[in-house]
Amino acid sequence: MSDQDNKFVPIDSELVPRYGGIPTFMRLPYITDPSLVDIALIGVPWDGGTTNRAGARHGPREIRNMSSFIRRINPSSLINPFNLCKVADLGDTGVNPIDIMESMGIIEKFFNGVHAAGAVPLSAGGDHLMTLPVMRGIVKDGPVGMVHFDAHNDTSDDYFGGHKYTHGTPFRRAVEEGLLDPKRTIQIGIRGTMYSEEDWNYSYESGMRVITMDEYFDMGVDGVIAEARKVVGDAPTYISFDVDGLDPVYAPGTGTPEVGGYSTYEAQRMIRGLKGLNLIGGDVVEVSPPFDQTGNTALVGANIMYEILCVLADSLVARC
Ligand code: MN
Ligand code: MN
Repeated sequence: MSDQDNKFVPIDSELVPRYGGIPTFMRLPYITDPSLVDIALIGVPWDGGTTNRAGARHGPREIRNMSSFIRRINPSSLINPFNLCKVADLGDTGVNPIDIMESMGIIEKFFNGVHAAGAVPLSAGGDHLMTLPVMRGIVKDGPVGMVHFDAHNDTSDDYFGGHKYTHGTPFRRAVEEGLLDPKRTIQIGIRGTMYSEEDWNYSYESGMRVITMDEYFDMGVDGVIAEARKVVGDAPTYISFDVDGLDPVYAPGTGTPEVGGYSTYEAQRMIRGLKGLNLIGGDVVEVSPPFDQTGNTALVGANIMYEILCVLADSLVARC
């Protein structure tokens, strides 16, 4: 498809410089009807599940802003996602910033509509609890697999006296609700000081493949890619990328930083290594602009979104 035939392409940087214009994800058109697009880029400006430093509600706006640095063609895979698929900015979901349950309902309904229209979502958070209502909205045919980049398992049971819905619990809830297949889930980058030796037990006991940073370092990036491909196999798989999986040197603007993580390049390489999987959507979460003094975390978040977009577009074209 040539650019002339495709209105779902970034604004021409020769006509409007990349610092100009109104910021949308990757300078794409803002389109509200999901039936017009293959891949919907969506903001979820919500951090109601945050247990420590807040601010991820401001993530989508800053990721949009920094995504203006992104050009079209992936320098490694040479994928141009905008030639493969119709991609647009679908705007932000609604939220109620003072009501967790109502917000989850609003977000689920939004993604239900995207899924019903036949579009595949790629979202920017928001804190990691948002992935639960996203999955509720798009997982309709049995539990899916997941490649989960994070310093944290996010499989705790509850926080602060029995509260079940926080950004530390979404994937336990997703397993309980039949949305996520733990045996087809891999968690990459797990680390950080613990409350107790049992903190990671649910992930292990439910059958998730947990790759701690110690193991990550021993396996190397290519070993981790091979393991991820083996764990998720050919069945439908979601990619969820918490920016705190990265070392805080690369992504300081996040609520729960943990030292000793992987680099931005290693993350790019891991996502590029997921090419060819059966991908049904993804997200980048936990970018917290109030702690992002240079804007670099939002820049990293935008680029990680782009990397996921490339493998997602490639996967969609392969399935058509
Ligand atoms: Mn997380
Ligand atoms: Mn995390």
